[in-house]
Formats: sequence, C-alpha cells, structure tokens
Amino acid sequence: METIARSDSLKYECMLFDMDDTLYPLSSGVNLACRKNIEEYMLHYLNIEETEVPKMCLELYREYGTTMAGLKVLGYEFDNDKFHEFVHGRLPYEVLKPDPLLRNLLLSMPQRKIIFTNGDKAHAIRVLNKLGLGDCFEGIICFETLNPPLEDTDEAASRRILCKPSVKAMEVAIRIANLDPHKTMFFDDSARNIASGKEAGLHTVIVGTSTMVAGADHALRSIHSIREVIPQIWEEGRGYPKQIIQSNAAELTVVQA
Ligand SMILES: [Mg+2]
Repeated sequence: METIARSDSLKYECMLFDMDDTLYPLSSGVNLACRKNIEEYMLHYLNIEETEVPKMCLELYREYGTTMAGLKVLGYEFDNDKFHEFVHGRLPYEVLKPDPLLRNLLLSMPQRKIIFTNGDKAHAIRVLNKLGLGDCFEGIICFETLNPPLEDTDEAASRRILCKPSVKAMEVAIRIANLDPHKTMFFDDSARNIASGKEAGLHTVIVGTSTMVAGADHALRSIHSIREVIPQIWEEGRGYPKQIIQSNAAELTVVQA
C-alpha cells in the first residue's frame, strides 16, 4: 500500500499512458519489427501456412487487441513468456533515444502517471529506460498485471488473455490503480482502445493523429504537443494537496530505472 497525496484542486488526478506508438512515434519502426517477429513466431513455432501468416497476424490483432490473444482464442498453445521473449527480445531498441522534452513534460505534470500497456514487463521497462522515462511513472500495468500466472495449468490453458481494447481490461486497470475514471486522462494511439476507454468512463486522448476518432475527447498528432493541446492539465494543478488517499499502487509493477 502506498499513500498518495491528491489535490482537491485537480480536475484530473491521473494520467494513464499507453506506451508503444504513444510515447514514441510509429515511424520509429519498432512496431513493424515487432510484427515481423510475431509473423516469424507464427511460421516457425505454430506451423501456420506462410501465405496465411501476414493476414492472420493483422486480423487477430484487430479482433482481439493483440495477435497473441487471438492465437490463444484459436486454440494455439504456447508459453507466454517464450512468446514475449521471441517477439521483443530482438527488437531494434537502439532506435529509441532519450526524449528530454517528453521527460520534462511528464515531470511537470502534477497528476499521478501510470503506464497501461498490452506489452510484457521486460519490454515496458526496456522501452521506458531507452526513452529516458524510467522514473517518470508511478507504475506499469502490463501483460503480467492483467494476466498473472495461474498454478492450475489446465485453467491457464483455457483462460482468455485480458488486454486492451476489452472494456473489462480497462475496468481491471482502473481498479488495480485505484483510479476515478472521471478524473483520469487516458492516452493511446489505437482508436479501438480509445473507444473502450471512453466506455469505461475515462477522458480520452488519441495520439499520433490530429483527426478525432469515436470516443476521443482530444487528438494529439504527437505526444510532444500535449501542453499546447491540453493546457488544462497544468492550469488546474495549482494548490496544495488536501486529501490523503490510500492507493493499491503496490499491486502495480514498479518501474526500475
Ligand atoms: Mg500503442
């Protein structure tokens, strides 16, 4: 249990950030490299027909939030950790560089800041450290947070993976981080995640485009324009903490810089 001070003067108490393609641009190439690795895993470890792989990879991603979640629904059995190791282990992390501008923006925000990613913990820590943001967040809600290992292997095999964009995943994240959704701003580059975030009661910001999508309250072409587009994050941050609340933050994965 961690004690968090909140200010009554804040309209928003927490900033909930997706990580991949939100805190760094899609153009970095990490997303493309990740998809190539997933396709390779499907081909070599799940023996899926080569001509089927790219289409299936994309369709499962669209339908279930992650290709991995879709593969499990289709009945493919594989070890989650080994999958993550394969698809993330060989990513070109070196293309991600420290981002002091974003770091300063995050550190100047008076709200709690939490990562909410479908990725696994090792990937999240690696990306945040590469971006120089390892100490900017109170915690990380990641694959392991929403899908803790089960002792019973039969139950584990039949269990569906919980991930965005499922509204249930949103609600579990809100509960674990002890958030008031009406006082939380959620940033994500996926239109589907934004729609389900809105359904869960969050204020929503689509990132990576200046075009609004269904369920979005704001649109940010780049995370760097956050202060220009949503200045109220800072404007309403004046005042002293008045209320001390208990948070379940201990349940979150701690960021290790
Ligand atoms: Mg993303």
